[in-house]
Amino acid sequence: MSKLVCHQEKVNESNVKELLKVCPFGAIEYLDGKVEVNAGCKMCKLCVKKGPTGVMEFIETEAVKIDKSLWKGIGVYVDHVEGVIHPVTMELIGKAKELAAVVNFPVYCVFIGFNIKEKAEELLHYGVDEIFVYDYPELKDFRIEPYTAAFEDFVNKVKPSSLLVGATTIGRSLAPRVAARFRTGLTADCTMLKMKENTDLVQIRPAFGGNIMAQIICPNTRPQMSTVRYKVMNAPEKQCEAKGKITICEIDKDKLASNIEVLKVTKKETEENISDADIIIAVGRALKSEKDMVMVQELAELLHAQIAGTRPLVEAGWIDAKKQIGLSGRTVKPKLIITLGISGAVQFAAGMNGSERIFAINKDSNASIFNVAHYGIVGDIYEIVPQLINDIKNSNAEYCVR
Ligand SMILES: Cc1cc2nc3c(=O)[nH]c(=O)nc-3n(C[C@H](O)[C@H](O)[C@H](O)COP(=O)(O)OP(=O)(O)OC[C@H]3O[C@@H](n4cnc5c(N)ncnc54)[C@H](O)[C@@H]3O)c2cc1C
Repeated sequence: MSKLVCHQEKVNESNVKELLKVCPFGAIEYLDGKVEVNAGCKMCKLCVKKGPTGVMEFIETEAVKIDKSLWKGIGVYVDHVEGVIHPVTMELIGKAKELAAVVNFPVYCVFIGFNIKEKAEELLHYGVDEIFVYDYPELKDFRIEPYTAAFEDFVNKVKPSSLLVGATTIGRSLAPRVAARFRTGLTADCTMLKMKENTDLVQIRPAFGGNIMAQIICPNTRPQMSTVRYKVMNAPEKQCEAKGKITICEIDKDKLASNIEVLKVTKKETEENISDADIIIAVGRALKSEKDMVMVQELAELLHAQIAGTRPLVEAGWIDAKKQIGLSGRTVKPKLIITLGISGAVQFAAGMNGSERIFAINKDSNASIFNVAHYGIVGDIYEIVPQLINDIKNSNAEYCVR
């Protein structure tokens, strides 16, 4: 691993001042007569290039070669609250099975919580080979230290080659901690995952504002870790027959100690979530004024749809941030999405191009939304939407999507 080293013997009063000034991140400190580099260091090497000559040195060590053959299997973290498993878990199991098939690996789950043994059985209907269960009262509520300890214990015992974690609030908090424990890489919000024959996991996600699809690999570390958002991968069909086995894991109780005491858990009211919607009416910047949302609402009500939209609409304050589809919003995969006056920028399309049926209305026939749409109308939403509303009303049909 590369590091910055300070040759303390060359440090004197004048070059300390110079060093402190040259670092734009305030990562160089002078403590008890010694120059220290703190966690703020971004390895920009300005202190080496522009600082006093010979004081700071960047030492690049060769990557340690790991024995990849010691790391086998694809592990999935079971995301849950009080034993209720988040559906992203099944989606990740589906992906893990596909990846595992390439290199003939088993698929594992790690299930951490309290009173969860019975819940673990449900996962055996999705084709998991082995479920490792950490069931302790200390793991009742999600607390980062004991959950990390249990996860770390699983990795040490099982040595999975890759780990998939749902990009939920819990997953986003847990995965980086675990990655840091093993000094391995973690790619957040992967949209695609592929397995190489040498067991390197190709983690693909939009980068640089969605303008490129980066392919990220961790050739020198194991486990390889990725988070994936809900609704990005496909869940496998639930099988009637349960296969695989459940292993109850033991862990030293001292490792489950926490500095966090949960005094009370207050449940939030469950809100409508666009990621769960079967039908979505998504609205874009074509909307001229907030009052025109009435037209969108009318169409949504007739189709029993949820309303969502693009980032400009959120920025205008016309729709809630939780209703934004896209890279910096949510991923959706409804049975039907109707886009009204949306250009189809990559950052938007990345959050909805897995939808079963995409129906786009845009007055510009060259709009990129038509590249992802299954059906389209080139025209003005102010003419088409009222017509659509009338037609639906006159048809007296009850609309639903199966
Ligand atoms: C890092 C980054 C992250 C981003 N994340 C997101 C994200 O998560 N979600 C997101 O949505 N955006 C995101 N964006 C912004 C994104 O790049 C686009 O700017 C945005 O999606 C455009 O929204 P829009 O389609 O509503 O507007 P526009 O691009 O302005 O398109 C409006 C469309 O409406 C059509 N139109 C106009 N009037 C009518 C009419 N009367 N009838 C029919 N059609 C009409 C036009 O032909 C045009 O195609 C992100 C950008 C960056 C850089």
